[in-house]
Amino acid sequence: MDVRDWADCYIRITVGPADEITLPADLYRKISGSGSVTVTEVSAKSNLPIYRYGNQEDSIVVAKYHNYRELVCELCRQFFDAGWVTGTGGSISIRYGNRIYMTPSGVQKERILPDELYVLDINGEILHVPPRKPGGRLPKLSDCSPLFLHAFQQRQAGAVLHSHAVNCNLVTTFFDGKSEFKISHQEMIKGIAGYGYFDELVVPIIENTAHEHELADCLGATIAKYPRAVAVLVRRHGMYVWGKTWEEAKRHGECLHYLFDIAVEYKKLGIDFNSPAMTATETNIKKRKVEVLNNGHNNGHQNTVKHVVFDIEGTTTPITFVHDVLFPYASKNCKKFWNLPLAQHRLRLISKLWRNKPC
Ligand code: ZN
Repeated sequence: MDVRDWADCYIRITVGPADEITLPADLYRKISGSGSVTVTEVSAKSNLPIYRYGNQEDSIVVAKYHNYRELVCELCRQFFDAGWVTGTGGSISIRYGNRIYMTPSGVQKERILPDELYVLDINGEILHVPPRKPGGRLPKLSDCSPLFLHAFQQRQAGAVLHSHAVNCNLVTTFFDGKSEFKISHQEMIKGIAGYGYFDELVVPIIENTAHEHELADCLGATIAKYPRAVAVLVRRHGMYVWGKTWEEAKRHGECLHYLFDIAVEYKKLGIDFNSPAMTATETNIKKRKVEVLNNGHNNGHQNTVKHVVFDIEGTTTPITFVHDVLFPYASKNCKKFWNLPLAQHRLRLISKLWRNKPC
């Protein structure tokens, strides 16, 4: 038996000849079936829907269906608070079976209600258009829909999220002219399905376009090109991220936003966010080597270093250029250089190596 609900979607319910089915009135408009099935229509007496069916499994289907609309709204509020979907930007879509619940275009995500969502099938056919609000315009299907469908169709995603968070935008500028964001040696990489701490996480970057839907072909091709990717960054725009379930998509989104935040903070401090961490053991070994060298050069008198000379490496220019141009330039700009954050950081590392003595 098929029950057609108010979202113009069918729910298939398997029942036996002797089963009695009770449906709340607001959940269906038309019932078609065959055989001696008894159907009793009742109105919900409270705000809570009543789910009583001859088949327990089907009652779960309908219950989940309603929960998914509420879930999209709940996640919208969370992601708004996190800065992912502010200014009506960004969007969310969650799939349950063949139905995709999607936020409409240009709405304030933190205020969206369950009946304001579009419902599409996996092929992009619109199953339900949200009603026009009194005095308002008819809600518009999100421009993100063709992009979402690529992830749903190519990756069998359970949910796809689109974020406009500041740091999604910012990290793409670190890789201007390049088509991949890379990061490694971060604990939160483990939150991405199939990745471990020592793996290099690659998030492809595509170029932005004037209109969101124009990104669809490029996004589809990029998803096909990067079979391990769970997200695609759009330069100076944001990110599309997905997962097998909505829980996984949310986790991927949270971990990636964390990694982008870390990358931005590292960059501010002048630290390479792809370089492996130096362990305490490694630091001690290096320190010991320095001590040995120090002792060797100073007949056992430690802590006598007053100057550090940095060698130039791999020079391909004539030595006269080094003497006549580079040395004067270095003398003139040395002080300014050592005041830069990156230089300060390196200086602190060097100081530690030399028993915390200033160099
Ligand atoms: Zn966008």
